[in-house]
Amino acid sequence: MTLAEFARFIGVLQAPSDHWQGIGSHVMGTTKVAINGFGTIGKRVAEAVDAQPDMEIVGVTKTGPSFGCGLAAKKGFPLYCTSDDEEMISTFENSEYDCRGGISNLLMIADIVVDCAPGKLGPENIEKYRGAGIKHIFQGGEKHSLTGMSYSSCANHSQNLNVDATRVVSCNTTGLSRTLMPLFERWGSLNVECTMIRRAADPGDSTKGPINAIKPVLKVPSHHGPDLMTVAPGIAINSLAVAVPTTIMHVHAIIAELPEGHGLSTESVIELWKKTPRVIVMHGGGNRITSTAEIMELARDLGRKWGDLHEIFVWQDGVKLVGNKLYYFQAIHQESDVIPENVDCIRAMMGTEEDWKKSVSITDEAINKYYSL
Ligand code: NAD
Repeated sequence: MTLAEFARFIGVLQAPSDHWQGIGSHVMGTTKVAINGFGTIGKRVAEAVDAQPDMEIVGVTKTGPSFGCGLAAKKGFPLYCTSDDEEMISTFENSEYDCRGGISNLLMIADIVVDCAPGKLGPENIEKYRGAGIKHIFQGGEKHSLTGMSYSSCANHSQNLNVDATRVVSCNTTGLSRTLMPLFERWGSLNVECTMIRRAADPGDSTKGPINAIKPVLKVPSHHGPDLMTVAPGIAINSLAVAVPTTIMHVHAIIAELPEGHGLSTESVIELWKKTPRVIVMHGGGNRITSTAEIMELARDLGRKWGDLHEIFVWQDGVKLVGNKLYYFQAIHQESDVIPENVDCIRAMMGTEEDWKKSVSITDEAINKYYSL
């Protein structure tokens, strides 16, 4: 994809489509969404939900007063405490932020809660959701076993229709799913080996590292690749992972083994991905976009808030099919590729859109309109 083609690609997303009429015809009212944990992922999911024609934010939570509450106030999202503990709720009293109550108060007025708490708090939070009898979505920091169900828009939207609990898979798994599913769907099986080169910390995080080392994950294979099998069990995949001192993006080096007689060429794989939702294919050399730094600059030019890039970026000149082995690199904006997936997941669980491609189209159009793209 050239820069001009990329601009047109974004333009296409703006164009009105019949999906807008489609959703209105079968949605009785808007889905009331609560966000528990208004951090990196929570604030992004909240705005993406706020953008949708068929959803509304009824409240977001914070543990106590902090600068993040200011964004909730600015957006008009009602603020609640992550806990029902009176002492925690009272910490808001001497602040400039109006807290309407504890998490239980919020769960009472919502149809569904998106849990965006730090990873591993799931076993504690799930009890609150079960107690309130509310549908709930966790993020990739939780284990699949917590809900027994996981979600990726392109892999298993239909399996998540009307379920009560699920987990949107991690940013890495979402990235693998986007480019591997179109290949997998051709044959119903695929063998993959990959190495995840992971960012050390998010840009807003001062507590993680490394800052001057390359740190391999010494659990082999790493959990990242096999996590894809929670949404696409037919893909046999293993992974290695290393963390590197960068805050911008993960890069995946992937080798997919295609079946004998696959009939594909390097060019036809590239064409396939160019037609795949939420995947961008660009020539690195031709566009001088040869590293994650330039990709993030492109994302900032694009104009989504926080410089987000919801799409998975594939370097066209980094794709090569040799015999049955397909080699490629892709880059993942870790803070944002899962955001539109959470929106599609809400539609699946509420049973308001059965077709994943229609949901993706509605979600992406609404987000782009929200940010005037
Ligand atoms: P974060 O630390 O940026 O935000 C978490 C928020 O939850 C904070 O505002 C925190 O105050 C709040 N919180 C603390 N205790 C809570 C509780 N008991 N209940 C509810 N909220 C509580 O974390 P994050 O990066 O947004 O990650 C959230 C989830 O999303 C994790 O499961 C993570 O693994 C996953 N995830 C993160 C990324 C990423 O790159 N940041 C990408 C994909 C998925």
